[in-house]
Amino acid sequence: MNTVKKTIVGLTGGIGSGKSAAAKIFLALGVEVIDADALAREVVELGQPALSDIAAHFGDGILTTEGNLDRAALRSIVFSNPEHKSWLEGLLHPLIAELLQRRLDATKSPYAILESPLLLETEQHKLVQRVLVIDADEETQIARALRRDGGDEKTIRSIIASQINRDERVQRADDLVPNEASLEQLKVNIEALHSKYMEMVTE
Ligand code: ATP
Repeated sequence: MNTVKKTIVGLTGGIGSGKSAAAKIFLALGVEVIDADALAREVVELGQPALSDIAAHFGDGILTTEGNLDRAALRSIVFSNPEHKSWLEGLLHPLIAELLQRRLDATKSPYAILESPLLLETEQHKLVQRVLVIDADEETQIARALRRDGGDEKTIRSIIASQINRDERVQRADDLVPNEASLEQLKVNIEALHSKYMEMVTE
């Protein structure tokens, strides 16, 4: 029997570009959205084998007193040592990719969205048929991230520097949605794309 591969659209963009805002609009249109960030947290929840592996490798210092992952402790270990970082990514990325694939396979809407800030930086782009980039200039990204999370501009700039650069991201887009105007404008643009995707999958 021939199985037709379901269309998955990868939704990505830099920090504060508006990925989650776009994802919400798709959800309201009845499109299922799988959130790679949420799933990445799920694989290291208490009781998950990956959490025990991480504690066995780095020691119980990366656990909180309740036995959960102490993200700040882990971050400081891996940021200061590239070998630790690649060990951790070698453990987590395949687990995340496998679970993402299962969740995407289980979606029921005519097409589904994979929302991921690291779609193009990791192998996750191999799970999707199209890449949708939400794009905003750096000043807009910083202003939004500060408004949303507080924190300081320097940290946000260093996160932007650690992500794929804007030109490359835009070049790899099959669909590009500029998001420097209002949320209403974003809604109009996402609704137009939704019509296009629905036509593509029902052709
Ligand atoms: P991150 O990668 O950090 O999770 P993100 O790309 O998911 O970021 P959002 O959380 O969607 O970004 O947007 C960042 C903030 O900017 C949110 O508070 C969101 O409501 C707001 N925002 C997004 N788009 C617009 C817009 N067009 N106009 C005004 N505010 C916006």
